[in-house]
Amino acid sequence: MSLKLDGKKLSLEIEEKLKNYISFNERMAKRRPGLAVIRIGEDPASGVYVKNKEKACSRIGIKSYIYNLKDTVDQKEVEQLINKLNLDKNIDGILLQLPIPNKFHDQRLISNINPSKDVDGLNEHNIGKLVKNEDAMRSCTPAGIINLLRSQNIRIEGKKIVVIGRSLLVGKPLSLMLLNLNGTVTMTHSKTKNLIDICKEADILIAAAGKPNLINSSFVKEGAVIIDVGIHRLKTDDENKTRLCGDVLLEDVIPKVFAYTPVPGGVGPMTVTMLLVNTIISWQKQFGLSSTLNDLVP
Ligand code: NAD
Repeated sequence: MSLKLDGKKLSLEIEEKLKNYISFNERMAKRRPGLAVIRIGEDPASGVYVKNKEKACSRIGIKSYIYNLKDTVDQKEVEQLINKLNLDKNIDGILLQLPIPNKFHDQRLISNINPSKDVDGLNEHNIGKLVKNEDAMRSCTPAGIINLLRSQNIRIEGKKIVVIGRSLLVGKPLSLMLLNLNGTVTMTHSKTKNLIDICKEADILIAAAGKPNLINSSFVKEGAVIIDVGIHRLKTDDENKTRLCGDVLLEDVIPKVFAYTPVPGGVGPMTVTMLLVNTIISWQKQFGLSSTLNDLVP
């Protein structure tokens, strides 16, 4: 039987540790960790993600500051808000909820975030440190995936790993993290030729293409580990209902693999958990608290 890599369960276990860490250290720091989340515009999915992050913060004792900005604000105003939050002593992490409306330059805004508060690990300082395999804030989804693999002692070192997707959010930082952990990594993308043949070689196959059910069992080696990053809401035959699926046609793939991540309940919850971890580690550094959580950052 294949092993389910249960992100929901692992994220609850890590949350328990984080909650204890905060309550143990709060007196020394004289305040709880603080996370600012900036959302621009009315994208409904972003609204749900921000709410989930807010709830996760309150479960473990992080104080969240939510900024819902109208899309009538301009780039300069958002930059000013980020600058203000950079200087705010109560804020340890700043997250810009993506995607934002096209009129904004998202990378320029992310570059404005102080690297020590860049809890999404997406600004060039932190990406540069990742390239150099130096300590820094790591982006959440890739770091969550590495924790999921480690939780079941799935070796990365020496393994052939194929990553589908080269985005700055997932594919690129994930490939670099796996490379730093001595995996033999192949990064693929929409222009890759013979994707299926490349995937069939993988001991660990990670799908982050953003294409529903792209990967079926013919892409997968017997006994491989498959990680599904994709998340899509599809309409069902019943007009009023929708269902979530990933990039992987799971029911076809599960019988062939050693381990897999479900959608929902796999990578998604781990992404939120790593945001909490990054915020607390920023708080920890600010107050010189114990580094017992550092193993969670690849
Ligand atoms: P993106 O659109 O920025 O990047 C997709 C990448 O996949 C691109 O590099 C593209 O070249 C590649 N690609 C597209 N079609 C392909 C194909 N047919 N074959 C091979 N490569 C192909 O998307 P993203 O931000 O990296 O997100 C990818 C998916 O992961 C989306 O479904 C997104 O919703 C999901 N996601 C989930 C989480 C989570 O926490 N679960 C977090 C981030 C993203």
